[in-house]
Amino acid sequence: MELKITCIPGDGIGPEIVAEAKKTLDAVALKYGHDMKYTDILMGGASIDVHGVPLTDEAVETARRADAVLMGSIGGDTTTSPWYKLAPNLRPEAGLLAIRKALNLFANLRPAVLYEELAGACPLKAEISEKGFDMLIMRELTGGLYFGERRTTEENGVRKAVDTLTYDEKEIRRIAIKGFDIARKRKKKVTSVDKANVLDSSRLWRAVVEEVAKDYPDVTLEHMLVDNCAMQLVKDPAQFDVILTENMFGDILSDEASMVTGSIGMLASASLNDTKFGLYEPSHGSAPDIAGKDLANPIATILSASMMLRYSFDLDKEADAIDNAVKQVLKDGYRTGDIMSEGCTQVGCKKMGDLIVERIQ
Ligand code: NAD
Repeated sequence: MELKITCIPGDGIGPEIVAEAKKTLDAVALKYGHDMKYTDILMGGASIDVHGVPLTDEAVETARRADAVLMGSIGGDTTTSPWYKLAPNLRPEAGLLAIRKALNLFANLRPAVLYEELAGACPLKAEISEKGFDMLIMRELTGGLYFGERRTTEENGVRKAVDTLTYDEKEIRRIAIKGFDIARKRKKKVTSVDKANVLDSSRLWRAVVEEVAKDYPDVTLEHMLVDNCAMQLVKDPAQFDVILTENMFGDILSDEASMVTGSIGMLASASLNDTKFGLYEPSHGSAPDIAGKDLANPIATILSASMMLRYSFDLDKEADAIDNAVKQVLKDGYRTGDIMSEGCTQVGCKKMGDLIVERIQ
């Protein structure tokens, strides 16, 4: 199969971690007989330095022509980098918002997995962490409170601010379909999170999710109020498979879920549109403090590449090969600095990539 992939190395550690992810994809291609065609584009600070803007129209067109986009990370040190003296719409992060919008990426997927070998990094009590967990937060990314009308007014000397939370049933249906489709590739359970005891938008959310669920009789659906979900994530994270939720709840819950894994360098993510197209990137930033030093953990980006194989190309066997190689490397005691613990062998970014490749071959 030919896979056309646009790569965005980006800034900071971005180029280093994307290089390792490409190495991993190449190993998969060789083993399973695929043909990877990469085209790099500039985004973020790297694009500002060359073109004066964080993303050009040509770069968007190149991304659009691909089957999927693999990204490192963008941005620099926000206190010292000259990129942050520019107007907000010209700063590195504006490139990411622009590409998400241009490619209509409305579904954000953030897996939170606690690997047995990294259980020590989990801030939860041992009796909870020893059960492990493997969940995926599916967050609606282009609607809700962050995109509603807002205004601040002043009446009789009293300031007043209004934000509006709007969802229509089409927006809810398309993300629910994605959530159920993805649950079918996992443990076949969807927890839909809302605040239906208070919000009309949540009552509509719940009704539409129930309609969609009828087409997926093999997937178990449960509803959970967002306040309860926030508690359950620290009390019993092992109960979750796919958590399906709207934009603001997902923003908060996905950060909470990431933190209970305790390892920022391990967290992959994906943003999908209503075709198979997606943008895959680690959840962490460009880590300017360790850039160019061969210290970055490439695993989040390598696991993002695995998500790309699974969700954009339906290559589940190939994605499993990457996920298993990552597990094996951890089991064999290799760690980058960010996840280092006593008795393990510390390796750099390139070596970690090599070790994962060896376990794929
Ligand atoms: P960060 O995630 O870049 O770094 C936070 C801490 O985690 C740092 O100490 C860093 O060294 C460490 N870290 C992060 N990723 C790591 C990895 N793979 N291996 C080892 N250690 C790792 O967050 P920040 O410092 O707040 O932001 C730095 C820049 O990244 C900013 O410009 C920010 O806007 C940008 N950013 C970009 C994205 C993105 O591209 N999607 C996301 C978040 C932040």
